[in-house]
Amino acid sequence: MSIAQNLTEIKSQLPAHVTLVAVSKTKPVSDLMEAYNAGQRIFGENYVQELVDKYEQMPKDIQWHFIGHLQSRKAKLIAPFVSLIHGVDSLKLLEEINKQAKKHNRIIDCLLQVHIAEEETKFGLNEEELKEIFTSENFKNLGNIKIVGLMGMATFTDNQSLIEKEFKLLKAIFDKLQVSNSLLQTLSMGMSGDFQLAISCGSTMVRIGSSIFGGR
Ligand SMILES: *Cc1c(COP(=O)(O)O)cnc(C)c1O
Repeated sequence: MSIAQNLTEIKSQLPAHVTLVAVSKTKPVSDLMEAYNAGQRIFGENYVQELVDKYEQMPKDIQWHFIGHLQSRKAKLIAPFVSLIHGVDSLKLLEEINKQAKKHNRIIDCLLQVHIAEEETKFGLNEEELKEIFTSENFKNLGNIKIVGLMGMATFTDNQSLIEKEFKLLKAIFDKLQVSNSLLQTLSMGMSGDFQLAISCGSTMVRIGSSIFGGR
């Protein structure tokens, strides 16, 4: 199937309140253009230089999401144009994004990444660290970033009940935080292999790569 057909197929499975991020890391601009010409306007990339290169080559009505692990020193490279940064997992990084956003007179939307998987290696904050960020004085002074939600990645496993448990945990944390923070609207969870389960657990944004563009 073509990229356009894959997109149609996936979109037919998404409820209206769920946003599709087309994850295009490692794929050539020609593939992204195929998705663009089929109407896709939100793309997600994992690597800063690759994102910058693609941004420069592609139409300017695209919303670029950074979904990888952002190093503080590279925030300045994407600050001029990025529309959402998914994987923020420290106050230090938020402060750097804020500083760079300010230089461009922008307010950059961010998602805080929550650690829900069993693997030690996945990045992210625990519930306690999340609370610390939201209640810290430094955070309240960051006028050029906006936390609009949370992001998480489930364990890489075939065990559906484990994945479901992790998604439900993230949704529960999201609901709790939402009570005191009405800006939290986005729950980014679900990839090619688990997006239907993620949606049934409350996801509002899915990040799908290989099911659109093929394997990497
Ligand atoms: C690569 C990646 C995806 C997309 O994964 P697929 O399995 O190809 O859909 C989603 N989220 C993050 C954070 C990724 O790095």
